[in-house]
Amino acid sequence: MKLSLDLATEWDKQHIWHPFTQMRGWTAAEHQPLFIVSGEGPWLFDVAGKRYLDGNSSIWTNIHGHNHPRINRAVLEQLNRIAHSSFLGFSNFPAAELAKRLVDLVPGSKLTRVFYSDDGSTGMEVAVKMTVQYFQQIGLPQKNRFAAFADAYHGDTLGASSLGGIQSFHDKFSALHFPRVPLSEVSDLNRIDGETLAAVAIEPLIQGAAGMRTWPPGMLKALRQWCNDHQVLLIFDEVMTGFGRTGRMFACQHEGVSPDFLVLAKGLTGGYLPLAATLTTETVYEGFLGEFDELRTFFYGHSYAGNPLGCAAALGSLEVFEQEAVLDRVGNVVEVFQRELGNLRTLPWVRDIRQVGMIAGIELGKPDGRPFDWRDRKGAKVCQSAREFGLLTRPIQDVVVLMPPLCVGEEEVCLGIEAVAKGIEVACR
Ligand SMILES: *Cc1c(COP(=O)(O)O)cnc(C)c1O
Repeated sequence: MKLSLDLATEWDKQHIWHPFTQMRGWTAAEHQPLFIVSGEGPWLFDVAGKRYLDGNSSIWTNIHGHNHPRINRAVLEQLNRIAHSSFLGFSNFPAAELAKRLVDLVPGSKLTRVFYSDDGSTGMEVAVKMTVQYFQQIGLPQKNRFAAFADAYHGDTLGASSLGGIQSFHDKFSALHFPRVPLSEVSDLNRIDGETLAAVAIEPLIQGAAGMRTWPPGMLKALRQWCNDHQVLLIFDEVMTGFGRTGRMFACQHEGVSPDFLVLAKGLTGGYLPLAATLTTETVYEGFLGEFDELRTFFYGHSYAGNPLGCAAALGSLEVFEQEAVLDRVGNVVEVFQRELGNLRTLPWVRDIRQVGMIAGIELGKPDGRPFDWRDRKGAKVCQSAREFGLLTRPIQDVVVLMPPLCVGEEEVCLGIEAVAKGIEVACR
């Protein structure tokens, strides 16, 4: 059956509840949802065949572009064998190969164990639950508190969101959250009782959902040192920053710091399929070993753990990194990106531009330097208007996110930034 746009729109509005979306506005008669029907490289195509630059890499997931022949082939070859089989009690080749590839890829030599789950939130849940159980089983049950940073975002499931610090997302659930030790900067740790602290979580280098906020250099090293001194585990949430987004394979490589947990999701499969990997050390892993009846097992897992299609896509993506020398190439693109972003500074409505690698946040404000009233939804209006100029992206309040797939060329970078500029002119003037 070939669905018409009218019918798809009707069924969507009648039956779907979209994430992070006020559905009253979505279902309003005057709102025509944009249906994406195909993709090619950094481009997305709508029902009418109009193309848009995928300006936020399909919510920060896509790495090498859409419809990539090598990743397609990897997924199709696996699909022709089997789509899914259980990881509870069985194994599969793509999952084993991916685990080896990831362990060889990540910085330092300590992250040797890979636990698979489904997405960024579950990847963080795994890190939290492993930490709690680990300290119980090594005889330090008092270590059960977690420290996380102001404005952090680590996902939406209850454990992951307990670590979150974004009021509008997290406050409604605060009664159900486990208490978080809030940090604004590393030096805050000096006021904290390390005896009862189990772990510190951070989005290294740059906080995503906070509005693309960058950390001061040297911070990860300082964190690592403090955690070592207090027997506290360090969790790096590289769900957004992983897989080349910052210009290096992983953000923590910019400071040469290795965590006790490295959480990977979004870009892990090149943005093809939902899959997460929580990497940890042999030390943590060994805390779970024992006889069957000691009940030291990590009693945790999701039905689709180690999904062979997802793992095949991830292997395909890693192959693209190698064969297309993506990280060498991306350095040049980052230079263009940075240079062109600079042009936006001349616009009176641009308050700040924050950029790391291929991630940028363009903060809007009034020409007198004050912020817009958040209820004016300027960020959303700018993104809506940028669509007319061939760019799709989504703001974080009044911060316009620009994070195209790593496969973009100079021309596409310029087009994307030009579209933001025009969008700002139209929506803010
Ligand atoms: C998106 C994101 C998450 C949550 O990932 P999901 O796949 O959406 O559950 C966690 N941490 C960071 C830093 C993210 O950007």
